[in-house]
Amino acid sequence: MKSRNQAVENLADQPKFKLKNLTLALQDDALILRDISLEFPAGQVTCLIGPSGSGKSTLLRCLNRLWEPPAGTVFLGGVDITSLDVLALRRKVGMLFQTPALFDGTVADNVAFGPVLRGKSLSDERVGDLLEMAGLPRAMASKSSDELSGGEAQRAALARALANEPEVLLLDEPTSALDPAATRQVEESILHLRDTLGLTVVWVSHSVEQVMRVADTMALLANGRLQEAGDPAHLLSSGHHLSKDFAAGRM
Ligand code: ADP
Ligand code: MG
Repeated sequence: MKSRNQAVENLADQPKFKLKNLTLALQDDALILRDISLEFPAGQVTCLIGPSGSGKSTLLRCLNRLWEPPAGTVFLGGVDITSLDVLALRRKVGMLFQTPALFDGTVADNVAFGPVLRGKSLSDERVGDLLEMAGLPRAMASKSSDELSGGEAQRAALARALANEPEVLLLDEPTSALDPAATRQVEESILHLRDTLGLTVVWVSHSVEQVMRVADTMALLANGRLQEAGDPAHLLSSGHHLSKDFAAGRM
């Protein structure tokens, strides 16, 4: 018989997210995602790439039920996410979009938003810690959100997501509106969080160069289907893989 500790260790070994034959159809029966089975390893960055319209954002949205997946298709730590409280799920699984939607007020107001919704206040100390985790100076807490550059705003949105103490971050092209320097800063902050907190990251990117910089593993979608998944350096550079075609602009 397995000991309790062994069972806990086994749980830690399993992928953070697991998709089992995920198919999504629209009302007119058009398929957006087709029979996708895929695992997202814990504590790693998995990049999703593929042509525009291939289903990357839809897949990402299924992971925190912004798009409701069918029961029995998406598992977080072995648990069917459709059985979880949706707000609790979204605290565990934070998300950043291409354009950070900060509301009017200070950076601190924005960072504290999630906890405040649940009736908890954040200390100035904690807000400062979260800003630092997102690669921003603590003093930025008192700035008005509309004074931030695009890169600063995206990192403030990251600090706001971190305030919920997520286990997973979903990133939907978070740097595509940023200049190269701000892009690198966001990339470095995310990789630092993976390394220090063990965050699991699912990162939609249209930049093959970015995938090469940040991905531990990757998956290529086309026309709602999973085409290839595995090691980015291998898939993007060697042999006759579709990923190489994508990288070369042939898809
Ligand atoms: P990607 O992020 O890879 O560009 P999306 O996941 O946004 O692709 O879209 C995949 C397909 O699903 C596209 O054909 C898109 O038009 C369609 N689609 C996305 N969202 C909706 C929606 N809310 N209603 C209908 N069709 C949608
Ligand atoms: Mg998209």
